[in-house]
Amino acid sequence: MQVPFLDLKIQYKSIKAEVDSAIQKVIDNTAFILGESVSNFEKDFAQAHDTKHCIGTSSGTDGNHLVLWSLGIKAGDEVIIPDNTFIASAWGITLCGATPVFVDCDPDSYNLDPEKVEAAITPKTKAIVAVHLYGHPAEMKKLQEIANKHSLYLVEDAAQAHLAEYDGMMVGGLSKASSFSFYPGKNLGAYGEGGAVLTNDADLAKSIKMLREHGQSEKYHHHSFGHNYRMEGIQGAVLGVKLKYLNEWTNGRRRVAAKYREVLGDIDEVILPKEMPNVKHVYHLFVIRVNDKKFNNREEIRDNLQKHLGENEIASGLHYPIPLHKQKCFEYLGNSNGDFPRAEQLAESGLSLPMFPELMDDQIQFIAEKIKSFFVK
Ligand SMILES: *Cc1c(COP(=O)(O)O)cnc(C)c1O
Repeated sequence: MQVPFLDLKIQYKSIKAEVDSAIQKVIDNTAFILGESVSNFEKDFAQAHDTKHCIGTSSGTDGNHLVLWSLGIKAGDEVIIPDNTFIASAWGITLCGATPVFVDCDPDSYNLDPEKVEAAITPKTKAIVAVHLYGHPAEMKKLQEIANKHSLYLVEDAAQAHLAEYDGMMVGGLSKASSFSFYPGKNLGAYGEGGAVLTNDADLAKSIKMLREHGQSEKYHHHSFGHNYRMEGIQGAVLGVKLKYLNEWTNGRRRVAAKYREVLGDIDEVILPKEMPNVKHVYHLFVIRVNDKKFNNREEIRDNLQKHLGENEIASGLHYPIPLHKQKCFEYLGNSNGDFPRAEQLAESGLSLPMFPELMDDQIQFIAEKIKSFFVK
């Protein structure tokens, strides 16, 4: 049985007529950049996350930049982010000319460890970027307390966490501003690049809109520096159709996660991801770890497990194999191996199993059998 990591075709087939006609409408209207399809989507996406303002962007990376740029983050400032995240979380900071400061994660949620955040604050610190990694919301209450105490901005990189909840509230509106990605493989994926910024702050929303479009307050009146970070009309149309199904697809991901727990729960050699009691995890990824209490060569075991699954036609992934402090581009920050032990542990022992809403129980059963056969052989 072949099991892909992700299958975007199943989803497209299920909504083909609706999506095709929405795309055709954009072409018929030649509304290729922003336009009605984007503004309608912005309204719906803000509403889905209980926030007042949504600004559609050209990608999640651009959204990360817009959030920090609009807050005035600049050269000489320090911004805290998790060491274990996708590199794009850091580009928002570096594009502002500021310095990223990495912080290690909580061992259970894999998100920012609030105590370590507080320890990393210096007089130069201006903001904290909480990443809801893999779709599990970060510990926002504690992070907000820390941000308030030290007069810092707290913002969210919610690229992996559409419709996730924390203490019964939607992510995206839990901080000053948040950024989402609609990269095709994300929980809500465009048919190309796309992203969005959410905020409840009307003035900030206005600045972000200006920065998105060449810093202009009206056409050819450039109020500030800016950039071209606009969303395309076709992406707005596709996302508008897909958003209606997102809750159903999120439930599908949660069903898959529950099934994984059922069939993998008795394998002591692997550690399953945790879901804290006060959150709704949306399982962008389902990342297991080889249990390094049982093995002292966790990376080798993990790599061999991945190879074994591959030989059985089961795709899997690594998210992410190299933590930020070990990336060549951040060598100048002077971090050392061992500075972020939990991020290193996750990078060396984590393995992402196939995860998409349509994954079937017999496929999950098959994956579990192959994981078992790897450890008992
Ligand atoms: C995907 C992702 C991004 C970047 O989004 P793009 O739309 O690909 O630019 C940023 N942060 C995280 C955590 C992501 O997973």
